Amino acid sequence: MRKVLVCLLWVVSFASSAQSYVIEQVKDNVYRFSAGHYHSVFMITDKGAFVTDPINADAAKWLKKAIHSRFGVAIKFMAYSHNHIDHTLGGEFLVDEQTTVVAHRYADEDMRWTKAPVRFADVTFTDSFTAELGQSSVQLSYFGPNNGRGNVSMHFMPANVMFVVDWVVLGRMPYKDLQGYDIHGMIRSTEQLLASHDFDILVGGHAQMGDKGDVRRYLAYLKTLYNSVRDALLAGHTLTQMQQQLHFPEFSHLPMYQQWRAQNIAGVYRTLIEESYFNFRPDVSVKENEH
Ligand SMILES: [Zn+2]
Repeated sequence: MRKVLVCLLWVVSFASSAQSYVIEQVKDNVYRFSAGHYHSVFMITDKGAFVTDPINADAAKWLKKAIHSRFGVAIKFMAYSHNHIDHTLGGEFLVDEQTTVVAHRYADEDMRWTKAPVRFADVTFTDSFTAELGQSSVQLSYFGPNNGRGNVSMHFMPANVMFVVDWVVLGRMPYKDLQGYDIHGMIRSTEQLLASHDFDILVGGHAQMGDKGDVRRYLAYLKTLYNSVRDALLAGHTLTQMQQQLHFPEFSHLPMYQQWRAQNIAGVYRTLIEESYFNFRPDVSVKENEH
C-alpha cells in the first residue's frame, strides 16, 4: 500500500518560511494539507470547497489563499474534527461569506463552555451529518468518546477517503504518554469505523496515510499495549517493572518505538488507575503512583 500511496501523492505546492505548508493530492478531488506535524483534508468541487481543521491562524490564511488562487472556488463548508485547540485555532481565517461551519455537538459545547478563541460552529449534529456538493459528499460520523470531545470521522465520496484525527494514528507510535486518549473509546471507535465504512485511504491528523490494513495493525497495537499493561497490573507489577519488561517486537519497526514505548505504557497505566480505579481493587496491589 505504501508504494501505491507514494504514486498517488502529488505535491502541488510548497512554501518555505518559518512554517512550511504542503498540499498533496490524496485521491481524485481530495487533498491533504500539512502544517508541520499537523494535517487536515479538503475536497474541491465545482460547487465549492469542503475544508476541515484550520490548525492555526497562519496555516488557515495560507490555505484559504491557496484554495482561492489555485482552485478558484469558495469555501462552502468548514468542519472541525474535534474540540482540541491545536487543531481548531484560526477558523475565522478559513471561511468565506457563505461558509457553513460544522462541529459535533460535544465539540461545539466544549468550545463554547471553555470560551475557546475559535470560530464557533453554525451547525451541530449528534450521530452523523452529510454535506453534499454536487456529485461529491462528506459524511461525518460520531462513534462515542475517543479522544477529546465530539471527535468524528469524515468520509469523502466518491474518492473514498477517510479523515480521522488523533484516535487513529498510522505509521507511527501513539503520542508519548497518550494525553487525551480514552483508550477504551479509541478501540471501540476504531472497531466501529472498520465495521461500518469501506475506504481506500485513511488520512490522519498526524503521522502517515494508510489503508484499512494499516488501521487494523494500529488497532492491534492499541489492544496489545492495553492488554499487556492490564495483565502486568493484575500480576502485581509496578509501572517501573512494566516499562523495563514489556516489549512489543511485532511493532518495534514503528517510528518512535524506542522513544515512546515506555511512555505509552505509562499512559495505559494511568488510564487503568484513573478511569478503571485499579488502585481500589481488592485483587490488585498498586505499589507506586497511587492517588
Ligand atoms: Zn492532534
